[in-house]
Amino acid sequence: MQTPVFRPEPKDGREGLTYVCGCPCVPTAAPAEDGAPGMEHCCCGKVHVVGNGAEAVLSAYLADRKATRKREPDYERGTAEVALGGRPVEVAWAFPIE
Ligand SMILES: [Zn+2]
Ligand SMILES: [Zn+2]
Repeated sequence: MQTPVFRPEPKDGREGLTYVCGCPCVPTAAPAEDGAPGMEHCCCGKVHVVGNGAEAVLSAYLADRKATRKREPDYERGTAEVALGGRPVEVAWAFPIE
């Protein structure tokens, strides 16, 4: 799978990132003021995290789900650096493997 194309999208008064998900949603994750990562887990099962340490946050989140849920899919995962508000920001994503 290729890296999804992320584009800016406002969320709760902050600048976040979204992508064309394939479901009716506009899943948007925005980092906090201090750069702490924000996460969005779409209804269709795709997850992305935007902010400092995004990959670590995503890994911990998925590990927790795997440990606590009966049915948890495997994910195709990746990271990217995307410009947000004129600065590069870390993005980590995990999309379920059908
Ligand atoms: Zn959706
Ligand atoms: Zn979706």
